[in-house]
Amino acid sequence: MPEGPEIRRLRDQLAEALLGRVARRIRFHLPDLQRWNGPLDGLRVVCIESHGKALLTHLENDHTIFSHNQLYGRWRVAAPGKMPATRRRLRLAIHTEEAWAHLYSASRIEVWPSATLRDHPFLSRLGPDVLDASTTLETVLERLVSAPFRNRRLGNLLVDQSFLAGLGNYLRCEILHCCGLHPAVRPRDLGIGALMGLAGRILQLARQSYHSGGITNDLQRAARLEAEGAPFEGYRFHVYRRDGEPCYRCGTRIVKRREGGQSCYLCPRCQGRANP
Ligand SMILES: [Zn+2]
Repeated sequence: MPEGPEIRRLRDQLAEALLGRVARRIRFHLPDLQRWNGPLDGLRVVCIESHGKALLTHLENDHTIFSHNQLYGRWRVAAPGKMPATRRRLRLAIHTEEAWAHLYSASRIEVWPSATLRDHPFLSRLGPDVLDASTTLETVLERLVSAPFRNRRLGNLLVDQSFLAGLGNYLRCEILHCCGLHPAVRPRDLGIGALMGLAGRILQLARQSYHSGGITNDLQRAARLEAEGAPFEGYRFHVYRRDGEPCYRCGTRIVKRREGGQSCYLCPRCQGRANP
């Protein structure tokens, strides 16, 4: 599933194509959205936002299209009439004079009055977005030590969108590894120095991934591996999907284990202590 950085880059791509433009034609292909086919035509796209893994397309006249890509959703942007053929199911089409944007396969699409979005059941549960400039080290630190979160296992807490929006499985694995933390460690087990280090890594890795096109590995190492011919998936991560390969820091083989219903990748030596 795409995580915050991927959704935000998608937002940038859609904004470049649609922002400020009049949507000549907006078509929904899910049965319960048919009544919106027509009434939104001719409205200007006034803002496109990402919140965690959700995307909001704001139109004139107080209309917002909420979409969540979940596992399978894919946006494609192309010049009018130039959309590449695909076997995916078209769910939403937004056409302007200059560009077409199509959302395929996603099943969670809704139209909301913009003014009531704060009551949206998904959005209202989200914590601060890790990629928003207003989310600072202090924001993250305060949440780590707050009563609802301080007793939670980090392996579970980091992917909880009510803690912070935008972190998913690869960021969880990479953050824990870079901090030398076992997934069973809880914020309350850590001293202030380790908590600050963790808060800093959460923001730094999510933002690096956004700016670098998905690389959480050390950027110099990633550039060297790329120059040596490694494929993208082979140089972008420290540990994620690298089970069986040596840890860059200590040479121990990376292992994969279940954590919170998903595969968690870690170095058993660098992250070996459940109670630091
Ligand atoms: Zn290691």
